[in-house]
Amino acid sequence: MEKYVPDIYQKSIYSINYDSLLSRGIKCLLFDLDNTLAPLKEKTPNEKLKKLFQELKEKGFKIIIFTNSPKVRAKPFMEGLQVDCCAYAKKPSTAKLLSVIEMYKYNFSEVAIIGDSMIDDIACGNIAEITTVLINRIAKREYPLAWIKRRYEKHVLKKLRDKDLFTKGRYYE
Ligand SMILES: [Mg+2]
Repeated sequence: MEKYVPDIYQKSIYSINYDSLLSRGIKCLLFDLDNTLAPLKEKTPNEKLKKLFQELKEKGFKIIIFTNSPKVRAKPFMEGLQVDCCAYAKKPSTAKLLSVIEMYKYNFSEVAIIGDSMIDDIACGNIAEITTVLINRIAKREYPLAWIKRRYEKHVLKKLRDKDLFTKGRYYE
């Protein structure tokens, strides 16, 4: 169960304290796409997101979109935000994550994964022993069959709450 508990939990990508991530030694941010950067219905990045990513680049972060979605979904975001991307990431499997970290030559302590799914994003990051940041999903609508994972997540959330390991809405960093 502990593998589902994020190191940091915030409301959205806009409420994360990125300076504090910098001071923890984080240099590379792996962002989930769907319901983390944008809801499914949005096909391109909006101005608010572009502005955030510009600021993050100015702070010196390397940004990589790390999504389980196909490349055709990620491409407009990769181009519009001028960042790198790894599609078909197969989270929570860590295989792609490890190869990305190796390819970009980062230490594990320098990488953080940010996403809306405990089951995919947070478990993947925790198993690989990088910093994990959970945010609340942007919209209710998800890809087909996501409900199966969400139902499991509901069960995980209840267990974590019972053990006082994690409570939804109780933010921390
Ligand atoms: Mg997601």
